[in-house]
Amino acid sequence: MPLLRVPYTDPLPPPHIIPRTAATVSGAIACLTDFLTAPPSKNLKLDTARNDRTVLLTGAGISVASGLADYRGTNGTYTLNRTYKPVYYNEFTANHEARKRYWARSYLGWTNLHKARPNIAHKAVARLGELGVISSCITQNVDSFHPLAHPSLPTTELHGYLRALVCLTCRTEYPRTAFQTQLSALNPAWAAFLAEVLASGALDTEDPAQRRARGLTTNPDGDVDIPGAPYGTFRYPACPTCLAAGAAAGVQLDSDGGWAEGSSGGVLKPAVVMFGESIPQATKMAAEEAVDGASRVLVVGSSLATYSAWRLVKRARENGMPIGVVNIGGVRGEEVFFGGVAEGNTGREAVRASVDAGEVLPAVVRMVEEVDSI
Ligand SMILES: [Zn+2]
Repeated sequence: MPLLRVPYTDPLPPPHIIPRTAATVSGAIACLTDFLTAPPSKNLKLDTARNDRTVLLTGAGISVASGLADYRGTNGTYTLNRTYKPVYYNEFTANHEARKRYWARSYLGWTNLHKARPNIAHKAVARLGELGVISSCITQNVDSFHPLAHPSLPTTELHGYLRALVCLTCRTEYPRTAFQTQLSALNPAWAAFLAEVLASGALDTEDPAQRRARGLTTNPDGDVDIPGAPYGTFRYPACPTCLAAGAAAGVQLDSDGGWAEGSSGGVLKPAVVMFGESIPQATKMAAEEAVDGASRVLVVGSSLATYSAWRLVKRARENGMPIGVVNIGGVRGEEVFFGGVAEGNTGREAVRASVDAGEVLPAVVRMVEEVDSI
C-alpha cells in the first residue's frame, strides 16, 4: 500500500505526562537519561533490536529554535494562518500555474531557509550518536539539519529534502542553491523585489506577527506568501538534462527561457515528499529497518500528526520497544504507545514530556556523559 503524506489538522488532546516527575524540566532530563541508558527491555520481540541503542524520530519542533516555521507550535502555521493550504503533489505535477505560485513563494523563502543552521538540539543528537546512545535518526523535516549536524550518524529523511530538486521525467537531482540563481536570472523583476524585501529586513525577523505586519506570511518548508502578488508572472527553468535531450523529452521554452506550457516533460519538483505524494519504497523500508534495529524509540518535536511517522512508533510498540516522546503539546493517538506502564517507572519503560528539546537534550548529554564516566 502506498504511504501518502497527508496533513492532519484535527485538534490534539493535551499530553499525559509519564512518569509524573517528567512534568518539570529537571525531572524530564532525569527521566530521559534513565530512558536512554537503561538495559534493553525484556519485552523486545526482535533479535535485531538488542543493540541497546535508541532510534530518534524528529519533527518540526526540533527546528523551531533554528528560526523555522512549524505547523502546530504556538507560532505554527495551523495556529496563526488557518487558511494556509500547502500545495498538493497532483496539483503541482498537473498545473503550470500552481508551479509558478509554488516556485515564486519558495524563491522568496529560500534565502532565510538557506541561512538557517542546526541548533543545540541537533548538536546534542550528534553527541548522543558519538556516545553510542543513538543508533540512527529518522526525521520528518526537510531542512537537512540532521545530516548537517551529524553526517556520520545515519539519517532517514522520511519526507525528502529541500536542498535539491528532482526532474519528474528523468529523475536527475539538482542543488537548490544553483536553482535560486537561475530563478533570479529568469525573473529580474522578482529578483529586484526580493532584494528590496531582504534590504528592508522583513525576512530577518523570526516573529510571524512582525512579518505579517510587513505584508508577508511565512509557512513551513520555506514558503513565503504575499497576498495579491502576481505569481502568474513567475518563470521557472526546465530540467537541463531533458532540455539537452531535445524534442524527445518533450520540453519547450517560452520567450523568456522558462519552462513553456504545453511541454510534456522536464518539470522540476523539490526533492521533498509533497502532501498527497507517496513516500518512496526505499525510504519507507530504511525507516522500518532503523526502527527494527534499535532497542527503543525517542520522538522529539513531533506531534506524529502524519501517519507515516505515527505508524513507525506503533511498529516500535508492537516490537515491544519502550517509547519516549518529547513534544510541547499533544501527540496524535499517544495512548496507544503508553498503555500498561508499571507504577514506579522512572523513565526506563516510557517517558512523555512536554518540554523544549533545546532545553533538555544538551543537559541529557551531560548526564549520559557522567553515567559513562562512572
Ligand atoms: Zn529531466
